[in-house]
Amino acid sequence: MATVVASSLFAGAAFAQETNTALEEGTEQLSTLSEVDSGTCGDNLKWVLDDEGTLTISGSGAMDDYDGDAPWFSNRNQIKSVIIESGVTNIGSAAFAQCSNLTSVTIPDSVTSIGNQAFYECSSLTSVEIPGSVTSIGGYVFSSCSSLSSIQVAEDNEVYDSRDNCNAIIETESNVLVEGCKNTVIPDSVTSIGGLAFSGRSNLTSIEIPDSVTSIGGAAFSDCSGLTSINIPNSITSIGGYVFLRCSSLTSIEIPDSVTSIGDQAFCRCSSLTSINIPNSVTSIGGDAFGACANLTSITYAGSECEFIKNVTVGLNLLGSVTFNYAKGSGHTAVTDKALAATVFKAGKTAGKHCSVCGKTITAQKTVKKLTATIKLSATKKTIKKKKSFTLTISKLANGDSVKSVKSSNKKIVKVKKTKTNKYKITGVKKGKAKVTVTLKSGKKATCTITVK
Ligand SMILES: [Zn+2]
Repeated sequence: MATVVASSLFAGAAFAQETNTALEEGTEQLSTLSEVDSGTCGDNLKWVLDDEGTLTISGSGAMDDYDGDAPWFSNRNQIKSVIIESGVTNIGSAAFAQCSNLTSVTIPDSVTSIGNQAFYECSSLTSVEIPGSVTSIGGYVFSSCSSLSSIQVAEDNEVYDSRDNCNAIIETESNVLVEGCKNTVIPDSVTSIGGLAFSGRSNLTSIEIPDSVTSIGGAAFSDCSGLTSINIPNSITSIGGYVFLRCSSLTSIEIPDSVTSIGDQAFCRCSSLTSINIPNSVTSIGGDAFGACANLTSITYAGSECEFIKNVTVGLNLLGSVTFNYAKGSGHTAVTDKALAATVFKAGKTAGKHCSVCGKTITAQKTVKKLTATIKLSATKKTIKKKKSFTLTISKLANGDSVKSVKSSNKKIVKVKKTKTNKYKITGVKKGKAKVTVTLKSGKKATCTITVK
C-alpha cells in the first residue's frame, strides 16, 4: 500500500509542516498506514481515518455539531480509536454516535465541552477519561455505551469529578451523578442521579443507591437490560418517568414507603417482573407505569381497594391483564341511591349503591325510559236521552300524567261537568250529536262521540 503524505491532502501550512517533521522522524511507522478517508470537521479542524481504524482529529478550534451526519459516519464501523489532538476545543454533538467498534478515545486538555449524544451507542467503548479542561457535558453523551466500565474525570477538573474512584461523572457543585457505567459505585455524597445517567448500560448488573440520593431523573436506568438488582432507598419520594423502562432482567423491585409518585412508564416492559408491591404512601401512578410487563401477574397495594380508589390517581392503560390485590381487602361503605320512577315527562332510574368513602359505584343505577302516554275512557261512543246523564271515567294514565281538559264540541247538545278526579258528568241537552274530547297534560287525546235522542 502506498504511503500517504498528508501534506498533499491538506492545504493547511501548519499541518504540512507537522507531517513533514513526522515523516522525518518516523517514516517507517507512517509507511505502514494508509489513509481511508479524510476531510474537515470544523473551520480549522482536519480529520484522517487510517486503515488501522484510527480517526485523528487535529487543528485548532471548535468541532461542528452533527446529527447522524458526521463526515466519518459512513465509515463509522471502521473506527476503532479516536485521537483528538491538542488544539481542538470541543467535541460536537453526536460526533462519534454509533461508532460501534470504537474502543478508545483520547480527549486532550484543550477540550472544554462535549456535545449531546457525542458517544451515543458506542457499544465497544470500555473506558473514558475526561480531562480537567472540560466544563460542559451535554445530555446522554454515553447513552447506550453498553461496554463502558471505567469513567475517570481528571482531578484538576473544577466542574466535574469522579470522587472516591466512583467510575462516574459527578457535577461537583450540585452532587448530581450525570453519567455512570458498569463499575460505578455511587458515593454517599451524591444527592441526585441525573436523567439517562445509566441509560442503555446493558452491562450493568447491579447497583446500590445510597440514601443520600433523593431523586432519580427520567429514564436514568432505562434499557439497562442486564440489571438484575437495584435498591430504591427510602430517601426517594418520587420515581420519575421511564426510570426503569425495559430493564428486562429486573426480577423484583421494592418500592419503599417514602415514595408518593411513580412516573409514566416507570417500570414499562420490565419483562422479568412477576409481581410488585405498592406501599400506601403512593398517591399517583403514571400512565403505563407497569405497562407491557409480559410476566407481571399481580400488583399488591398495601391499603384497601377503597383507599386506593380514593387516594391514588392512576394513569391510563395501567394494568393490562394484571390482577390487582388489596392487602386490606376490598370493603367499601355502601349507601343506597334511591330509585326514581319514570314519568311521561322524564326518564327515571333504578336503585343503586355507591361507596360513601371512595365514591366507587357498587351497583350502578340504570336509566328507565320516559313513559309513553296512555289513556282509556269508560266509553268512546254513547247514546243518551235528552236531559239524561252518564259518568265518563278516564283511566290508565301513565305515571306523571293528568287530565288537562274535557270539552264538548257543542255545548248546546252535550254539557260536561267534572264530578271527581278523572270522572265527568255528561248530560244531553237537546237532540243531536257532539264529541267530548279529553286532553291530557302530556298532549295525549281521546274522544267519546255522544248521540242525544
Ligand atoms: Zn370505597
